[in-house]
Amino acid sequence: MKNHKPTILRIAVPTPLRRSFDYLAPTGCDLTRLQPGMRVRIPFHNRQMVGILLEVCDQSEFAVHKLKQAVEIIDDYPVVSADVMQLCLWAAEYYHHPLGDVLETALPTLLRQGKPLALSQETYWTVTPEALALDFTSLNRSPRQQELLSWLIQHPEGVSKRQIKERDIPSTMMNTLCKKGWATKISKDDILIPSLEIPEPALTLNAAQQHAVTVINAAENFHVFLLDGVTGSGKTEVYLQAISAVLAKGKQVLVLVPEIGLTPQTLERFRKRFSVPVVALHSGLTDKERLNAFLNTQYDHAKIIIGTRSAIFSPFKNLGLIIVDEEHDLSFKQHDGFRYHARDLAIMRAQSNNISIVLGSATPSLETLCRTQQGRYQHLRLPERAGDANIPVFSVLDIRKQHLEEGISQSLLSAMKTHLDKGDQVMLFLNRRGFAPVFMCHSCGWMAKCQRCDSRLTYHSEPSRLHCHHCDSRRSIPKKCDACGENDLQIIGLGTERLEQALQKHFPNFSIARIDRDSTQRKGSMENLLEKIQSGEHQILIGTQMLAKGHHFPNVTLVGIIDTDGGFFSSDFRALERMGQLILQVAGRAGRVSKPGTVVLQTHHPDHPLLHQLLRESYHFFATTLLQERAQALLPPYAFLALFRAEAHDAEQAHQFLQHIKKITDTFAEKMSIWGPVAAPMAKRSGRYRMQLLFQADQRPLLQRYLKKLLPEIEKIPSKHQVRWSLDVDPLEMF
Ligand SMILES: [Zn+2]
Ligand SMILES: [Zn+2]
Ligand SMILES: [Zn+2]
Repeated sequence: MKNHKPTILRIAVPTPLRRSFDYLAPTGCDLTRLQPGMRVRIPFHNRQMVGILLEVCDQSEFAVHKLKQAVEIIDDYPVVSADVMQLCLWAAEYYHHPLGDVLETALPTLLRQGKPLALSQETYWTVTPEALALDFTSLNRSPRQQELLSWLIQHPEGVSKRQIKERDIPSTMMNTLCKKGWATKISKDDILIPSLEIPEPALTLNAAQQHAVTVINAAENFHVFLLDGVTGSGKTEVYLQAISAVLAKGKQVLVLVPEIGLTPQTLERFRKRFSVPVVALHSGLTDKERLNAFLNTQYDHAKIIIGTRSAIFSPFKNLGLIIVDEEHDLSFKQHDGFRYHARDLAIMRAQSNNISIVLGSATPSLETLCRTQQGRYQHLRLPERAGDANIPVFSVLDIRKQHLEEGISQSLLSAMKTHLDKGDQVMLFLNRRGFAPVFMCHSCGWMAKCQRCDSRLTYHSEPSRLHCHHCDSRRSIPKKCDACGENDLQIIGLGTERLEQALQKHFPNFSIARIDRDSTQRKGSMENLLEKIQSGEHQILIGTQMLAKGHHFPNVTLVGIIDTDGGFFSSDFRALERMGQLILQVAGRAGRVSKPGTVVLQTHHPDHPLLHQLLRESYHFFATTLLQERAQALLPPYAFLALFRAEAHDAEQAHQFLQHIKKITDTFAEKMSIWGPVAAPMAKRSGRYRMQLLFQADQRPLLQRYLKKLLPEIEKIPSKHQVRWSLDVDPLEMF
């Protein structure tokens, strides 16, 4: 008799458990075709789930007769390619996150649900023979129709709903063309093919840009480049020319951008330059579009993939280059669940694919600068603004003892008037939305606070209400003080709404656009506002940090930073780095084309040495000083952190849980610094008390060894179900 060994499938399942699960192969399954990365439908507790096959083996740590049988193998080939699998395995281990959950992040929703691995049908519009025979001059009076038709002619395969949406073409216009018999709708597989549009030529490079392109294109193996260029220095043109060389070799390119950086203008610039299919991965895609983008990338139809954070998990067939634009941006770090950093994963992926990666920024993170100083990354600088753009002039405005009109000094007001009268635009930056941050009683000092959070409520005037910016709870404005019953209630401090109101009074003849999370909530409202700013319909722009990223306002010649000082007194050791980056990013929005920009900073600390280094010398002097301070204090990037967070309705439970974790480490032979447990900077949020425990090591491997030993022990803590806990490796925010 033959020795019969069972076939066991080791499967990653999206659960909070840090382990894999063993199943028996389904009856009748062709074992020879099984490959890691295929989806398997399995019974899990009382339902069916979709897991990912990790390996096929003949042994299990569980009794084989107790193993359940998998229901079916869903795929004919792996949905998770070997390359993405390797990235996910690394990430699960490094971030100590359950592998099943990591793999789920890598897949589009429809694939997670077990839907077939096939392109779905998509509606396309194509031109009719009638349109081809049309005399185009007869359309001279409807230039948009003319433009649309010639675009359709350049796309004989048809244009999809997605392409029409991305071009901002109203669907009514397509219907008009159909009614006239010039276009027709067809339904076909959503396969991307190159367009016939003639690509725009490359721009002429200055010496620094040329050097960067040459060096990047010459690299044949894994290489990390820091493309360090002031705003307006032409980083994008360097990306485009590096991409062009990679496309010429028949390879694909991944471009990671910050959440707010994926604007229609960015996309347009890539689409116009190359005739290859460009896929944009953003939150506006439907599940179907996302699956089609995934498959087009996997089939190597899509050549350029531009996306936010999670695009790092795209299934390339033939990846040749990765670009991370604005690498310092916080949105590359996922802030809940699987807390990965897309830039760091991108570097890992480039390394395992043995290709180059370009990190671009005008204000590189200290982590990246440090590695560049250590010689691990190659530093490419673009010191000058490209073309005819000017470097903005900074002016530090001492507002001590000055009379402020709703937070604005007279000097800033008169500077605004000068610029506005010349017909230029003015932009004011205030990183606080709402009308005012404080609502208090003048009789007894009571302040409106959130019931569920350890925070004050923000006063809003339109619509009028009190609002918590941490848990989103709202209440109507009380007529009398909650504490003493007097009606002596006051609104204190400045938010964007109040600034808008004050400026409207001061400059009645100018129109104001306010850009913050409240004014851009409705879909399309951001685009709408931006368009009106570009067309000059609004002359004054007020905004929070939403304004600081990605958008170019060529007619803005004056930028006012209303409250510069926020970063000086924060308890977060990264606050100064962020402040410097924010000031330069905001400043970079102005004076980009031929018109010189002035940046006025209102401060109570005009002599702060770091502010001087930043403005009078450079971001590099500023960053070098900060790096020296970090080195002395043994903080990142010279130390490595891991933060355990725990929250519970009872503060004591959260505290006990973290105390328990700390106690486990008493038995470890190696020692490292452990801080806490202490209350989080915001001690209560959404009704839960929050505590944290910080691990700090001067060597990354030591920290990793610690966490690896620790996590299986934490799983055994009986009280773990009473708290919500998480681990954040390389935390960027300490709340
Ligand atoms: Zn009171
Ligand atoms: Zn609010
Ligand atoms: Zn709240």
